[in-house]
Amino acid sequence: MNTGLFIFDTKARELKEVTAANGFEVQIYCCGPTVYRDAHVGNLRTFLLGDLVKRILNFSGIDSNFIQNITDVGHMAEDIVGNEIGEDKLLTQSKAEKLDPFVIARKYEAGFHADLAKLNVIPAAAYPKASETIELMQDLISKLITTGHAYVGEDKCVYFSAQSYPSYGEISGNRLDSLKPGHRYEYVEDGAKKFHADWALWKAAGNRSEMIWDSPWGPGFPGWHIECSAMSLHFLQGHVDLHLGGIDLRFPHHENERAQSNAAAGYEVVENWVHGEHLLFEGRKMSKSAGNVVLLNDLIAKGIDPLALRLCFMENRYRSQMDLTWDSLQAADSTLDRWRRKYSQWLGDGDIDKQFVSEFTQGSLADIQRDLDTPRALQQLRKLEKDEYLTGATKAKCFEEVDHIYALDLIRPPKAKAEASAEITELLEKRAAARVAKDFAQSDELRDQLTKLGISVKDSPTGQNWDWL
Ligand code: AMP
Ligand code: ZN
Repeated sequence: MNTGLFIFDTKARELKEVTAANGFEVQIYCCGPTVYRDAHVGNLRTFLLGDLVKRILNFSGIDSNFIQNITDVGHMAEDIVGNEIGEDKLLTQSKAEKLDPFVIARKYEAGFHADLAKLNVIPAAAYPKASETIELMQDLISKLITTGHAYVGEDKCVYFSAQSYPSYGEISGNRLDSLKPGHRYEYVEDGAKKFHADWALWKAAGNRSEMIWDSPWGPGFPGWHIECSAMSLHFLQGHVDLHLGGIDLRFPHHENERAQSNAAAGYEVVENWVHGEHLLFEGRKMSKSAGNVVLLNDLIAKGIDPLALRLCFMENRYRSQMDLTWDSLQAADSTLDRWRRKYSQWLGDGDIDKQFVSEFTQGSLADIQRDLDTPRALQQLRKLEKDEYLTGATKAKCFEEVDHIYALDLIRPPKAKAEASAEITELLEKRAAARVAKDFAQSDELRDQLTKLGISVKDSPTGQNWDWL
């Protein structure tokens, strides 16, 4: 079944139409959070990409089955080039907070869901946890061993044999002959691997005593990549129409997932590999050491509507690296408030031009269906806002329609007037005083200042009245 949505497939390196192979529902898998900390706004950009896709399909009347995993075991700390080398991220955090690793997992998992709710993200059909799907992973690993794609090393870890999957590297372009020995690819080296680019599917417990499970190969825990193969194959019945994640996951995570899934299934499991570009904050990569990790709650603490983040992301193309700033967030917050104010003023103003609403809505959908061109769709919304000929009721109806896709709560009541800032209140008081004193030059100057802050002032026999522009 066709969907009309064209999106860039990293593997094919071209735009491809999203289709529903089973004829009734698009099967979507989105790599979820590793729940050892709160998601930062960069992670949220990737998660919102998934929501946008889901909403476009919904709007076009197409069902989707959206699965997002919760990584709560097996994701090891990485070095600068992204190789897994250190301790399990959950265990490191459990030591830092002196809490059981499963308590850590549930705490940050709850935070993840709370963030998604604040961002109007439609919940996934399921959020399977790695720690609760160990059997699925073990079954898949056993199958890979039986079919000669995996082997048990002398160290009791199970490795995937990269050379057993000749088309390895098609997503990222990192083919096996270009991956040189000496480069550390994975957690355990120690000569147990037969080939330098093999990776661990199951890791032997060794000295580790927490978050370990029995297995046919001895006690241990699963690797991170096998989690996504096992979950996508199981929860999406062996076929993924669209696989989403941040660009950093292209290699090795998705490359390894593809090899595992295809080797086990015997066919190409994922139709479309889609990657969202990274988010920078104030010009720099977000990192703990740079001290610029920004969370959704940091926005809320500054009085910024969480949906301003959604708007900022939509102002940029998902495939471009994007620099988020406090200024852009504040500007998006003001825009949202202005739109909501206008929406409430437009309601009931004249008749609705149904033909126009339908054309406008279809035009917005068409922009987004073309590789998620949200910046262009938003330009159309701004043009509509300024249009001098349409009735308010027509504009309001257009806002209502496109908000099914944008999820910006455009029909929500605007901030109360009383919430005008202290600065605005002071300027209004000064202007009222200037008029009483008949200092009209001063009163005009203050009006200009207020206009710049988004306030319109009108004078009447009973004094000045103000409103948001
Ligand atoms: P993690 O919780 O680190 O496993 O990451 C969850 C998701 O966020 C993955 O899809 C990553 O690719 C994505 N991600 C991580 N950092 C960023 C960033 N700065 N910008 C956009 N997406 C990111
Ligand atoms: Zn994944």
